[in-house]
Amino acid sequence: MPQTILIIEDEADIAESLRYNLEREGFKIQIAESGEKGLRLALNESVAPTLIILDLMLPGMSGLELCRRLRREPQTKKTPIIMLTAKSSESDKVTGLELGADDYITKPFSIKEVLARINAVLRRTDNDSTRRYEDEKLCVDFEDMRVFCCGQEVKLTRKEFALLANLVKNSGRVATRQNLLDNVWGYSYFGDTRTLDVHIRRLRQKLGPCSECIETVVGVGYRFVGNKSAEK
Ligand code: CA
Repeated sequence: MPQTILIIEDEADIAESLRYNLEREGFKIQIAESGEKGLRLALNESVAPTLIILDLMLPGMSGLELCRRLRREPQTKKTPIIMLTAKSSESDKVTGLELGADDYITKPFSIKEVLARINAVLRRTDNDSTRRYEDEKLCVDFEDMRVFCCGQEVKLTRKEFALLANLVKNSGRVATRQNLLDNVWGYSYFGDTRTLDVHIRRLRQKLGPCSECIETVVGVGYRFVGNKSAEK
């Protein structure tokens, strides 16, 4: 069965170009030109979207407000959301990610980038239950809490492991500093975010040849991107 992608975007040329390219990839496409219509389509149980592409700049209900609503509704609580944002709206990006969006794409974007993000998000959703992560260099065993880089075991503290596991489980997705502090240190953590940076630095040091799997997203947080053995 084809997977349905709901595009919520008021700019018709952007929506149509996404439709054209994504249909060629075998997706079924729905378009909503307003947040209100987007919400209606997203909650329509007969054609529940597999993934939602959400423009933040919409007339009427804003993209962020819609994102908040979608995360509150049981039917769409876990539906992956990729936000479309303007370059200038750094704070919207962070707010969107904190509201539970899975990723964002900055306009203007290439269709290749959109496809890569969609595939990464869909892969991640499929693999939610995996017990271990493995790429060409790195192996993270969530059950035994052990990490191997190039076949050598890496000894991590509990916090370092929790941090790495958190990043790995959200592979490809930006984890904001606040999300990481909340998830790894707990909601009651009020310390400053330097604690997080110190842990990331130590984690990278210990990971040695695998350290590039953690990418810094300036001004936002970190993203796990995995390792490839040769060139990218
Ligand atoms: Ca717009």
